[in-house]
Amino acid sequence: MTAKEILFKYWNYPSFKTPQEEIISNVLEGKDTLAILPTGGGKSLCYQVPAIMFDGLTLVISPLIALMKDQVQNLTSKGISTAYITNEIDQNTIGKILDDCQNNRVKLLYVSPERLQSRIFIERLKQINISLLAVDEAHCVSEWGHDFRPAYHRIARLKTILPKVPILALTATATEKIQLEIIEKLELNQPQIFKSSLKRKNLSYNVFLSTDKKKDLIYYLKKYSGSSIIFVRNRRLTYEIANFLSQNGFDADYFHAKLTKDEKEEKQRNWMLSNSRIMVSTNAFGMGIDKPNVRTVFHIDLPQGIEAYYQEVGRAGRDELESHGIYLYHPDDRIQAENIFKANLPSQQDFIKISNCLFSQLQLAEGELTEMNYQLDIPKFAEKFGLNLKMVLQFLDFLNTKEIIQQKNYTQNSTLQILASPHSINQGENQIFDYLQRHYPGIYTYSREISESKMAFDLHRSIGDIRNALHDYYKNGTIDYSDRFLARFRFLIPRDSNAFKNKLWKDFESIQVNNWKRLQAMIYYAEQNTICRERLLFGYFNQKSDENCGKCDVCQSKKQTKNFNANDLIEYLKEGEKTQAEILSKFINLPKDIIVEELQYLIDEMRVQPIGFDSYKLIE
Ligand code: ADP
Ligand code: MG
Repeated sequence: MTAKEILFKYWNYPSFKTPQEEIISNVLEGKDTLAILPTGGGKSLCYQVPAIMFDGLTLVISPLIALMKDQVQNLTSKGISTAYITNEIDQNTIGKILDDCQNNRVKLLYVSPERLQSRIFIERLKQINISLLAVDEAHCVSEWGHDFRPAYHRIARLKTILPKVPILALTATATEKIQLEIIEKLELNQPQIFKSSLKRKNLSYNVFLSTDKKKDLIYYLKKYSGSSIIFVRNRRLTYEIANFLSQNGFDADYFHAKLTKDEKEEKQRNWMLSNSRIMVSTNAFGMGIDKPNVRTVFHIDLPQGIEAYYQEVGRAGRDELESHGIYLYHPDDRIQAENIFKANLPSQQDFIKISNCLFSQLQLAEGELTEMNYQLDIPKFAEKFGLNLKMVLQFLDFLNTKEIIQQKNYTQNSTLQILASPHSINQGENQIFDYLQRHYPGIYTYSREISESKMAFDLHRSIGDIRNALHDYYKNGTIDYSDRFLARFRFLIPRDSNAFKNKLWKDFESIQVNNWKRLQAMIYYAEQNTICRERLLFGYFNQKSDENCGKCDVCQSKKQTKNFNANDLIEYLKEGEKTQAEILSKFINLPKDIIVEELQYLIDEMRVQPIGFDSYKLIE
């Protein structure tokens, strides 16, 4: 069968989107390939179609578990034999999956990059006939990018055991710099680069000045009805905004990284099924979640940078229908973002101090390296030495990135399994065990994500109290407990204080400088209002565009200032006194700013009289 026949047989799509076909034929020729296609551009098919055509296995490296499961489910339902391996799967099952791969019974195997750290896994790979290595979200290899995953650096090492296997690297956004880094770090061999236009015909990019973000959210959610994602800065805001919207009659839910796996899955399921649901979320939500009918993506805080912003807005309009990215901007956003950035920015002194405190806490002498797995209670550590918690977290992340430490099963949530048999625990006598088995079915047989804070709340105890109790059970072997407040890591290189003072500090500083530049680029994008937004975005990604989009707020307001005049407003006010909300919804197709400006103009001209702050009447 040809690629096109496969496309039709399994997906029922009549044709490829450009440049899918070129990518696929390059891959089929066994050449290394770098594919840069926007979100929703159809990257997955670029390795799934060849996977079906190749004799051997296609190994897919993918950074997100939710995404893997989605794809595996989807392909399996089409009769394509597919599997995935994550930390949640036990050794036995992993062994069976790899047996199936070895016996050529699996076409696609999805694994997380961290899996490549497992020596057993690597050994097994050698026995499997592998035809293609697909690296999804390849920008994760870039230290400068916003999604850096250290384990991506291990991918190149696969080359030594799979020397003839072509690599297909896929990503949505890549500046020239990141593009080069992908090629270098993945050691792509004279790759063909395919880049499709960043253009999304059905998507508009807008920045609207907003002094009352909640009110404006309602306005725009009514203007553009349908499913929506609202990105906010922190967890607290996800609850707050979702609540506010629910109270105002919208179908709203919230999402953030600290939810348990079950909660996440349920929320995602309901979200996928709904036509109207609004998801208020931190940036934990969205990567790879393929919901076609998202009509709007909002930001109400300054996005972290253009790359993240472009990807997040790209969640809208996968069904090719008209959709909008809307950033409700206020000048304070800038001040706030800059302040947060600076407040958590360690100085060289802080940096050296944290390193010294860390080594003294762990009692590690100069030049010493141990095989020990350390457990560090980060909040306690920070408190003991009077350090800023966020800085400590950043510091440890940095060490992990630099492979000075190796962090172990770092999770967003604690996990727990009860090891003692149910009979050995006196039912009804132990509040904590009663609670665990009631709320987390299966916790006797496998490890479940738990929430200490919810437990503390439900049991009317403090979180510290709950954690202490759980640690006691852990010590006496009653439970297996991995506390998310504990960093677990080991050192990979000996302590070198000089490095922390010089080289490492310089590296750290240049990462920070880069982050600052990224923030400033975002601020520039938000604050300027003369250049077409789409043009500006594409320029950032080194893609030339010859024409303005005609749809963004900048283009629209240039157009509409021309064909809207005060008479339309006056005509409407002849009906009688109107509230601002009434006026705005009457002219809902026009940019709000223009109407407000026009109103102000009429007030200045003494044609219209404001009543209070919210209503207007014609002066006859
Ligand atoms: P990406 O990974 O680039 O963000 P996906 O691979 O998830 O995008 O594909 C986005 C959507 O486009 C999916 O629903 C996919 O089935 C659909 N799609 C991909 N290729 C085609 C095609 N040739 N024709 C129609 N739909 C396609
Ligand atoms: Mg994808």
